[in-house]
Amino acid sequence: MNLGGFILLKIGINGYGTIGRRLAHAIAKQDDMKVVGAAKTRPDFKAMDAVNRGVPLYCSVPGNESKFKEAGMELAGSLEDLLSSIDLVIDCAPSKMGLENKALYEKHGLKMMFQGGEKSSTAEVSFNAQNNYADAIGKQSVRVVSCNTTGLARTLGDVRTLSDTGKVRTVMVRRAADPGQSNKGPINAIKPTPEMPSHHGPDLKTVIPGINIMSIAFAVSSTLMHSHAIMAELAEPLDRETILNKFRENPRVRVYRVADGFKTTAEVMEHAKDLGRDMSDMYEIIVWDECLNVSEDGKELYYMQAVHQESDVVPENIDCIRALGGIESDPLKSMEKTNKTLGVGAGL
Ligand code: NAD
Repeated sequence: MNLGGFILLKIGINGYGTIGRRLAHAIAKQDDMKVVGAAKTRPDFKAMDAVNRGVPLYCSVPGNESKFKEAGMELAGSLEDLLSSIDLVIDCAPSKMGLENKALYEKHGLKMMFQGGEKSSTAEVSFNAQNNYADAIGKQSVRVVSCNTTGLARTLGDVRTLSDTGKVRTVMVRRAADPGQSNKGPINAIKPTPEMPSHHGPDLKTVIPGINIMSIAFAVSSTLMHSHAIMAELAEPLDRETILNKFRENPRVRVYRVADGFKTTAEVMEHAKDLGRDMSDMYEIIVWDECLNVSEDGKELYYMQAVHQESDVVPENIDCIRALGGIESDPLKSMEKTNKTLGVGAGL
């Protein structure tokens, strides 16, 4: 809808799980976009969240309507009803289902956003606000890269504004499951990822083309954040403080000290509760101060960072809506607005 030059973009969310409901909450805080509804497969406590927050519910599985009725949840219609009343759909269905859903979105002529669990070929471009916002402008379909790739893109994007990088090597230590997932493991083991590179390195190249990166990965018995150990060759010698200051200037990155009690990802997520945000999320990438160093000649950088898998992509999705939906062409203006409305970069 165009309100005298002011666009209020109508958005539908297909899939209301970990990412879908966070995006609905975040969109509700924006004044240039509006959630028309969210599609759910079945009535569960996540559907209840939609009801409690006034997000109209649509049923994405024909035949399941009666289940919503039995659960006392009123439906606004079917997924097709939702798709026929919006400008842009955000697919938040489980990984790889977005591709299946795409034909339906195309049938309704919609702008489409997909998440990092989809292959990059699902959309015309992949997206990270800080690195390639402009690529999404004028497109019909965009994929916001995964939580891990977003973490790499933010800090390596910062480093590359200071110096070109040679070989970048990273070991990804991935949480086995999200806190609400009782059906995934390992619960008492460390699981190597046999694919080398893991998908993260090639994925980063979709938003930072030309970066020379090799990534390998483990999944570990934790639900509290992913961690990355990153090693990068620097074309221009840099010192530790210059790099840390660059990270400190980025509202979407936080530099925390082990000495202040941030000994593990557990303390980081405990601290996130003090910030009073929606779902106690930590939107920023955490770099440990003491875990960043450079070689004596300043030409090799080593650092460790943590990624709140459930939420770092939330601000990226809001920016992606503005770029794809034609609301804002200036990446800095969009990021500033998103940061302000979600409190990104605010508080210690
Ligand atoms: P989820 O399992 O928490 O939620 C998926 C939702 O989709 C649920 O509401 C489910 O009921 C619904 N659904 C199931 N089948 C469906 C179908 N056929 N059509 C529509 N909806 C269906 O998943 P999630 O963790 O929110 O992941 C969504 C996407 O976001 C994936 O691509 C994932 O890779 C990506 N992602 C996840 C995380 C994370 O940490 N969870 C981080 C970044 C990106």
